[in-house]
Amino acid sequence: MSARPLRLFLSCVILVFSADTLLIQTAWSGTQDHRHPKLSPSSQKSRMKGKPASLAPINVINLRATSSSRGTRLVLDLDRQPEVTEQQAENPRRVIIALPNTSLSQTARAKATDGTVPPPFVVTQITPHAVAVSLLTTSFQTLNQFTLSDPPRLVIDVMPSLGQSPSPIEETQTTPPRADPVGTQPTQARAKSYTTIVIDPGHGGKDPGALGLRRTAEKDITLKVALRLKELLRKRPDVRVLMTRDRDVYLELEERAQFANSHGADLFVSIHVNSHPSRVVKGLEVYHFGEAKDQRALEVAARENGTPISSTGVGWEYLVADLLTTKKIEASLELAWNAKEAIVTQMNGRYDVTDHGVKTAPFYVLRFTSMPSILAEVAFISNPDEEALLRNPTFVNDVAQSLYQGILSFLGNNK
Ligand SMILES: [Zn+2]
Repeated sequence: MSARPLRLFLSCVILVFSADTLLIQTAWSGTQDHRHPKLSPSSQKSRMKGKPASLAPINVINLRATSSSRGTRLVLDLDRQPEVTEQQAENPRRVIIALPNTSLSQTARAKATDGTVPPPFVVTQITPHAVAVSLLTTSFQTLNQFTLSDPPRLVIDVMPSLGQSPSPIEETQTTPPRADPVGTQPTQARAKSYTTIVIDPGHGGKDPGALGLRRTAEKDITLKVALRLKELLRKRPDVRVLMTRDRDVYLELEERAQFANSHGADLFVSIHVNSHPSRVVKGLEVYHFGEAKDQRALEVAARENGTPISSTGVGWEYLVADLLTTKKIEASLELAWNAKEAIVTQMNGRYDVTDHGVKTAPFYVLRFTSMPSILAEVAFISNPDEEALLRNPTFVNDVAQSLYQGILSFLGNNK
């Protein structure tokens, strides 16, 4: 793919996360090195007081956020004093505030993904034993974090940056969804009467995505399919549709996933167009998150993540504990099958559809979304016949219609 600057800019996104993990683990093992194995019980007790890392994990009881004209404050309520490390990481450039030997309570975990935690904070159980709060450095002017002791808590204050990069778009609806008391109640207590679907048109702005022989840009096709899909979905009263972008703007992969997480999305559908060095290769593939089972799937994920093949998916198995529940995997697989089947059955006859099936690969946007999520590679822009189809509004409409039907059949089976 041509997005070389993107590749450089986003290089090793997944690796960064495993690097974050390493940083945290390194910081933590450094702490452990200070522990003296032969302390007397009393001195051990007093040491433990200062070094809670040697005890059972610290619990993040709750997450609270407040915003004012002076900025945004995130408070982590804890059951005892944490050790806090602050580090810089690259690609994308971010600050990581890490708490080793700490776990998120169920409440905190829910709030990390239901929109309670506002941008630019991203709170994750980054390993089974460490919590991280990460912030893109472009998202704030100033950052100040400190701990308070009675009760124990970590306070992080940020002043947002003036020239924020374009935010993802929340689609406004003429008729707002029925009562959904966002606010004080935890997510689980809400009885939602509609499904929130985030549509993610791949690439955009400075990142054109894959290019065809006739210079057709992937970013334009994905946007057209996504806008059409949105039009179809928004007619349904039981669906709320949001788009990560609805125009030609650049978004980080992290922003896309965070957008879906923070809006409490129930489904995430990322739309892409495929590319292959051989112009003969054509057809449809639908992915959900997992290990790449073959070189080809790995290549597709590397291209879409903007990571070198050698590091794509490296360390992903260490990162799956928090967001990748069995329920998410099963639902993602089912959604992928529904989408794929709908496209194949609806479009075969009218078009010569090559069905590459449902596959798994370590896509960034699928990994870091906390709801069932798929990535559809609807056709190969590198194949001249399919490039011609992708330029045809009828084909674009038919792809959107088929995806719509696939989503509907998934929703029908998962009421
Ligand atoms: Zn793409």
